[in-house]
Formats: sequence, structure tokens, C-alpha cells
Amino acid sequence: MLLNVDAAWRRLASGLQPVVESEEVELAEALGRVAAAEVLALIDLPPFDASAMDGYAVDSAALSHQGAKRLTVVDESAAGHPAQRGVGGLEAIRIFTGAVMPEGADAVLVQEEVTRTGDVAETSVQVLPEQNVRHRGHDIRRGEALCRTGDKLSAYRLGWLAACGVARVSVARRVRVAIFSTGDELMEAGQPLQPGQIYDSNRFALSCLLRRKAAEVIDLGCVADNPDDIRQTLRQAARSADLVVTSGGVSVGDADFVKAAVEQTGTIDFWRIALKPGKPLAVGSLDGGEGKALFLGLPGNPVSTLVTYLLFVAPAIDVLAGARPPPPLRLPAIIDHDVRHSEGRREYMRGVLEARQGRLHVATTGDQSSNRLATFANANCLV
Ligand code: AMP
Ligand code: MG
Repeated sequence: MLLNVDAAWRRLASGLQPVVESEEVELAEALGRVAAAEVLALIDLPPFDASAMDGYAVDSAALSHQGAKRLTVVDESAAGHPAQRGVGGLEAIRIFTGAVMPEGADAVLVQEEVTRTGDVAETSVQVLPEQNVRHRGHDIRRGEALCRTGDKLSAYRLGWLAACGVARVSVARRVRVAIFSTGDELMEAGQPLQPGQIYDSNRFALSCLLRRKAAEVIDLGCVADNPDDIRQTLRQAARSADLVVTSGGVSVGDADFVKAAVEQTGTIDFWRIALKPGKPLAVGSLDGGEGKALFLGLPGNPVSTLVTYLLFVAPAIDVLAGARPPPPLRLPAIIDHDVRHSEGRREYMRGVLEARQGRLHVATTGDQSSNRLATFANANCLV
């Protein structure tokens, strides 16, 4: 019996326990982390009524009539340098974008509408109250929530926190993820290949992907197809990690020792998923003596490893980090070539999605064999 992809995710998600510890970090350290508490704005943003344009701050009531108006320019307000006085009647203060609105002014006459001669500014336009003014607190008011527990701290959100004077933020501690690859044939890039060897790409790609998550990577290297070594590495991983992710050794070949090793270190639930690529997935828990960890054994074919990472590992890490993983963005697109699909398993091909004349088109990236990393090279979506 094959488990369908959605059911497999629900089953995995139901067993995930988010980390409970949190830490306070500088804003610069918070990128990609998950808020562990609500963050409130410390100030109104903007902190004062400000001009949205370069021009002249005026009392709109004095300029509300039709016809030519002559204003006397009495002072200047530039960003960071407020005017020393206010305006009344037919007075104006030269003002620039982001500068404080002077006392008595409720609108900004844009400079393009003004003829300036010495201290006199002439215009024939009517000025409406509030025109070209950004009001204090119109982005957010002091005491309102900038983010809630479980929100991911993106560059955009962190910029907003900074704008509100927040310098430190409480975040969930990073999820500790131990990774290792298995396979007698694997060699580290940079070393010459012996006959029958290939370079270990899975551990490298996984560690790059994990660096973008709220995770701390514990790289345990490459382990030979040897039950004792695998068992020992699993024990070590369970002592230091929340989650252990391996690649390879989970199918049903003679050299697939991972399942048995997990069974000796904890418990295993082996799933055959109606998924192509990536049918076998070993899910379980490890007991390292001093610590327990969740275990996810990914298949070894590089494309299968990456697809199962995207479908299962990445959202699992989000949940473990205390976030709510966003549902994947699904878009209908036109495929301009034939694709072959055999029924029975949901298939994720790698594709390139682009907009042409207002429509989304997608093309798959050549031969979709599960060993071909070339299918990922220029891909920007799964089809
Ligand atoms: P396995 O799941 O161990 O049976 O491996 C399936 C296929 O993926 C075999 O062709 C392996 O050589 C290959 N493979 C396994 N692990 C890796 C890895 N870390 N990097 C690149 N290829 C791998
Ligand atoms: Mg193997």
C-alpha cells in the first residue's frame, strides 16, 4: 500500500513537537528565525506628521479659493531639521519629503505648482486639507503588534521592526538538524574519484538548504554502508539534534542498512509514498541515551533527496521552529509539450515557469530521471 503525499505529510506533522526554548537576539541575528513572542511597536510610525513631497507647507484653509495666491515663505523644514516656527494665513514653509509638518500647516503644495521669487511663492492651484501629508502612526501605532508568535522574520518584517525602534527580538532557538549521507561509493568533492565512486552531492545540497531555515546544521559527514558505523552515527546524532536527516540506504537493497540501524536505536515507521521521485521514506525516532530525536531517512537518488526535502523536511523544520509553514503556492500554467506520466504515484517534475503575454507557461527540464541533478539546475518550480 502506498501512502499518498498529503496523508504522509499529515501523519508526519501530527507527531512534530515545536522547540520550546527561546532566546533574545539582536535584530541582525534574527533573519529567517521565528518570533517566540509578540513584538509591539515602540513608537508611532511615522513618529510625526510628515511631508510626502517636496514643496510648501501651508494652511489649506487659506488656499481653498480659486485664483492666484501669494504666499510669504517664512522658514524651512528639511528631513531631520524641523522649522523653528509655524505658519498662519498666507504663510508657507519650504518643506522636503520626510520633514516635520510645521505648526499650523495641514497640507503640502507641491513645488511644481509654485513660482518662487525671493520670499514669495505664488500658485494658482487649490489646496485640500491633508494633501501630501503622511500622518503620524498611519503605518502602525505605538503598542500595536508588528508580529505574532510563530511569524517568520523576513528581511521585510525585520525592516519594519527596525523602523519602529525594535533592536532585539525573542526567537525560538534554532532547530538542531544533524545530517549525514550513507554510501560506500561516496567521495567528497575535491578528491580524485576511484573506480565506481561518485561525489556526495546530497549532504552538500541539504546543508545549503538548511542554512536558509531556522536551523543549526550538525554535519556528521559521510558514513559507509556498515551497520555498526550507521548505528553509532545515529546515536551520536540523537544526542545533539532535534531532527536527524540522512540520505541513502532506505530502499530494500542488500546494502540498505539504515532502517535496521534506526530500529536498533529507536523506532521506525517506513513509508512507501505514492510519490515520484522519492517513494521510500523512513520516518522514526531515535534514542541516543541522553537525547531523543526525530528521524527522517531520505532516499539516496539526488533528485529524490531534494524532492522529499522540499515536501517533508522543509515544512517539518518550520513546524519544529514554531512557525506555521505556508501552504505551497499552486498556480495553473500551460504546458507546451507532452509529458509522460504513469498512473499510481503523484509525480513532481522540475520545471521552469514563466509569464508570456500575461499567461503562465511551464516547461519541464528534460529527462526527469531521479539521478539527474541537471533537472534542478534552472528549475524554479515543481510541476
Ligand atoms: P541508495 O538510496 O543508497 O540506494 O542510493 C540510490 C542512488 O543514489 C545510488 O545510485 C547512489 O549512488 C546515489 N546516492 C546515494 N547517496 C548519494 C549522495 N549522497 N550523493 C549522490 N548520490 C547519492
Ligand atoms: Mg546507498
